[in-house]
Amino acid sequence: MDKALVFLKPDAVLRRYIGANVIKLFQDDPQIEILTFEEVRINKDLVDAHYGFLKGRCFYNWLVDYVCSGPVLVTVCRGEDITKHIRNLLGDTICERAPKESVRGRYGIYGGVNVVHASDSPQTAVKELYLWNSIYHFNLDEINANKKASTYVNRWIKYHVDYTMELRELSFKIAKDHLLKLSLGDKIKSLLREECKEVLPSDFESFSNVVINNCLL
Ligand code: ADP
Repeated sequence: MDKALVFLKPDAVLRRYIGANVIKLFQDDPQIEILTFEEVRINKDLVDAHYGFLKGRCFYNWLVDYVCSGPVLVTVCRGEDITKHIRNLLGDTICERAPKESVRGRYGIYGGVNVVHASDSPQTAVKELYLWNSIYHFNLDEINANKKASTYVNRWIKYHVDYTMELRELSFKIAKDHLLKLSLGDKIKSLLREECKEVLPSDFESFSNVVINNCLL
């Protein structure tokens, strides 16, 4: 059986109901064993090491801001063909191109604001697990990880606030006409404010700016 590094990006962690749903989906999937469950913050050094192959792309600086805009929930998942299986659940990188029923199609806001990272092959998984483990020293304990995951799901799933499709439509409009950033940007912020319960004001500010700036890429 293979392992994969899977982390919920800040859009899934701060938009509480979204993250809880994704974790529940993984927990309920008989093909996925969750071996760790940790909320951490990542810094630019880790982003550079993890996403170094994307340096030089026009969205790279935005990507750094995105994944550093709040906490991420990192898990190590194990299972048969786990990387392929989870990537199938996620759908395409660009969420509006992902199948509607996939995680990114269902919960991704727009473009690269796409909810979850998962290793894309067993070889990548080995490299990513080595890198992240060298920083966070994961303790692989399935029972404890599931206990933490269940507590997390129970805490946030009851909020039931999900404006994904409204946020996608607003993002799409700004992407088509950047001059709409001022008026529609405020609407994006007010919808996000409802989704992001009990979030540090500084995280909310960074994250909502990332969502708006994403439309200008
Ligand atoms: P994936 O996460 O599907 O493996 P990549 O490794 O190619 O995709 O890219 C890493 C992350 O960078 C994506 O998940 C997404 O957040 C962001 N990204 C990739 N391509 C784009 C793009 N064209 N525009 C905006 N963001 C992008």
